[in-house]
Parts: sequence; C-alpha cells; structure tokens
Amino acid sequence: MTRDQSLTELAAAAVCELAPYQPGKPLAELERDYGVRDAIKLASNENPMELPAAVRAAIRESIADVSRYPDGAAFSLRGALAQQLGVAPDAITLGNGSNEVLVLLAETFLTPQVNAIYDQYSFVVYRLAVQATGAEARVAASLPRDHEQPLGHDLDAMLALVDANTRMVFIANPNNPTGTWLDGDALHAFLAALPAHVVAVVDEAYYEYARDEQWPDVLSWLDEFPNLVVTRTFSKAYGLAGLRLGYGVSSPAMAELLNRVRQPFNVNTVAQAAALAALNETSWLAECRAENDRELKHVSAGLAGMGIHFLPSKGNFVLAEIPNASACNEFLLQRGIIVRPVANYGLDGYLRISIGNKSENHRLLAGVSAYMESRS
Ligand SMILES: *Cc1c(COP(=O)(O)O)cnc(C)c1O
Repeated sequence: MTRDQSLTELAAAAVCELAPYQPGKPLAELERDYGVRDAIKLASNENPMELPAAVRAAIRESIADVSRYPDGAAFSLRGALAQQLGVAPDAITLGNGSNEVLVLLAETFLTPQVNAIYDQYSFVVYRLAVQATGAEARVAASLPRDHEQPLGHDLDAMLALVDANTRMVFIANPNNPTGTWLDGDALHAFLAALPAHVVAVVDEAYYEYARDEQWPDVLSWLDEFPNLVVTRTFSKAYGLAGLRLGYGVSSPAMAELLNRVRQPFNVNTVAQAAALAALNETSWLAECRAENDRELKHVSAGLAGMGIHFLPSKGNFVLAEIPNASACNEFLLQRGIIVRPVANYGLDGYLRISIGNKSENHRLLAGVSAYMESRS
C-alpha cells in the first residue's frame, strides 16, 4: 500500500463524477463566519410555525425508548398513514426523508445499462441518485421563461427522451426550485403515454401546501399505473425536517422491491412517534397552509413592488430573479439572512427564498430592498 494511491482512482467511476449536494447554510455556521447574531434561515423550505404541543410531547415521550432499535416495519405509523391516505399499509415505503425513498428507487431499478429522465431545473437529488448508480441521465429542457409555468417541466420534452432503455422518470409537482406545477390532465396523459418498462416517480414534497380543488389526486391513479410511485414527506408542511421522515406510495409489488434494498432500521423511533402524532394535527396543518398562502402573497407583493421578477409558486418558497444574485446573497448573509443561491441548478440569476414567519419575511424584504437601493 503506497501513500500516493489516489482514493479517487479506487472509487466507483460514477461516484467520481458526483458533485456533493449543497445544503442551505446552517444558522450556527453563518453566525460563526459572519459574526452576526439573530440570523434567520429562509433557505431550506422548512415550516416556520412552532410544532403543536402534542407532537412535542410525543417526541419527548419517545426518548425513553431510544436504547432499543426502532420498529423496523413501523407498524403503527404505516397503519395510520395508510388509513389517512386511503391505501393499504403494504403500499407504503418509509424512508429517512423522502430523499432516501428516491435513492431506494434508483438503487432498485437503475444500472449502468439503463437511463433515467428528469427536468433540467428539477430537484437536484434526482441527478445525484441517478448518477450514483452509473445509469445514463437524460435531462429534459425546461419550459421557456415566458411560459405560464416558467422554467417548469416540459412533459412532451421528457416523453421524447424515453426509449427502450429508460427505466425511470422523475416529476416534481410542484417543482423545487421553481415552484411551478403541472396540470392534472396533462400529468395523467403523460403517465398514460409512458411505456410499461418505465417507473414514474411523482414527487409531491409540497403536497400539503399545494393541494386545492384542482390538484390531481395522483394516489387514486395507482391502480391504473402499476409503475407509479408517489413520494411525500414530513419535512416540509409537517415541520419535521430534522427528524428525517418521508414515504413512497405505490403498488404493494413495488413497495416489496424497495423493501429489499431498504436498511432494516432506516426510520428512527423519535421520527415514527412524532409523525404518528403529527398526522392527527389536521387543523394545525390547515393553519400552516393558510399562513403560508398569506405570507407567500405578502413576499410576492413585496418583491413585485421592487420590480423583481419571480416565478409563480405552489410551494412554501419563491424563485426570484435578482440582478447579480450572488452579490445579493452575500449582502443578505452580512445582514444575517440566509436564502438559497441556485447556481448549482444552472440558475445563476436567481435566489430561492423560503417563506418564513411574518417577522422573518419582513426582514427579508427589508434586506432585499436595501440591496436594490445599494445598486441604484
Ligand atoms: C425537500 C424536498 C424533498 C426531500 O425532502 P426530505 O426531507 O428528504 O423528505 C424531496 N423532493 C423535493 C422536491 C423537495 O423539495
């Protein structure tokens, strides 16, 4: 064994090509690096509302059990979730965040011999999950900036990339980082047009924020499309990002395959208890949703008032087109405000801003306004 052996030469070729995920800057890091206090983070689309007392109590009580392994089958949580969703418990695959479910899907179906399709400006984890398997990534061009869903998914462009070796297609609805969404009829027609050898992943991480009378009931299509998987999460509207819990809903046959790859104890005891309690909090969830609707309007109006163009959004974030976006990001960091640069998505001219609580949003708008004035 020589000291000059490069580890990179030893790593799987697909891994050498990977660029690591860039998370939003943690608050403590900003305060350390910039010497600011009372920093706010509007960078990772977390729910700014305080958790309900019953969820906090469930978390506290579950701590008594952490010396034991969790229930690997998550019997109680899967049962409660299945009942709420109107599916069978064996249609549900729990993950350490829905991120893990996306990775399980890639590990289950993708090999260097096949390809997978996703949109140019879609959630970056699709790229990471696909690349790690060595499968070919086929990236579909997004809709143009002047479309009514600017930079959103172009389903026709995605369909055009499908061939005999395509195993998977990723659709985010609504999409992150753009906030754009798909028409239910168009999405249904797209799934109907996919050949039977393609697994369709519909990522509904923002479902609880997005759903309205027109929102497609994609779970009700599972019988019609055996290769469909819908992923959702407790990280966004449910406010449990730090506990890491998401899930896939699919045919039981699909779930059974994913379960072969899944680590036996991938969802911890505290997360299971918290999510079980959170499922009962329907009025709190509705309140979070209503508050997000109000504050999203408020932030949008504030940006519009400064002449800043932004994309329509059904999530708890907005993608804003800001002159010299990286300078604006730096300007905001110096004032203790963390938003998300999206140059890693190829969107250098934009910042993604999560919707916070009233006072956070106020500070954000004041910061952006000061930045705009500093330029004029
Ligand atoms: C945040 C997010 C997820 C993953 O969240 P988890 O915390 O891993 O559940 C998945 N898809 C999209 C589009 C997201 O924005």
